Amino acid sequence: MLLVRGTRSLIYLSSKQQIINISSSSCKVALTTSSTSFISTFNNNQNNNNKYSQLSYYSSTKMSKPGVTEAAVKQDPRDTIFAKIVEGSIPCKKVYEDDDCLAFDDISPQAPVHVLLIPKHPIGGINDATEEHATVLGKLMTKVPKIAKLKDIDHSGYRLVVNEGIHGQQSVRWLHIHILGGRQLNWPPC
Ligand code: AMP
Repeated sequence: MLLVRGTRSLIYLSSKQQIINISSSSCKVALTTSSTSFISTFNNNQNNNNKYSQLSYYSSTKMSKPGVTEAAVKQDPRDTIFAKIVEGSIPCKKVYEDDDCLAFDDISPQAPVHVLLIPKHPIGGINDATEEHATVLGKLMTKVPKIAKLKDIDHSGYRLVVNEGIHGQQSVRWLHIHILGGRQLNWPPC
């Protein structure tokens, strides 16, 4: 553990964390592992009495995700991997299906339960949603409790995430709802 003293802050760092920038208002800390990098931004806030836990929250934030590119967010949804999953030419671990939607396990789960719920109709992302999609999007939301029950997370709770574009770190341009649960999730999520 290394103790860093800013003008009004004390920050505890593990041996794998490195300070990359410190100012009177904030401190940026990098943590690099073999597979990914994390950046923590610690704001020097006088009202913050629990600095170590705040840093821990930020430390769990991944700054990059494979597949999030300008090309990916401009892709026609009909050319994406989810289009192939809907048409059945690529397999998935199906959780639920009806005429309007399909739910399947995420290939790279971020929680013990990580299901993707998608409409069968091609919609690139929430930015592309219009009045004509209201019915299908409404149907999608009403399937969430059913899927949560199938995965036995309806009582413990869960989180829905819809990523949009580059800042939202969307990697597949076919609208999908992440259903995450099976463990205590952190807040803030960013
Ligand atoms: P997003 O990054 O929000 O666009 O979410 C796309 C998600 O799709 C990621 O969590 C990926 O792990 C997941 N994913 C990509 N390919 C597959 C696949 N073939 N089967 C299941 N999940 C996938």
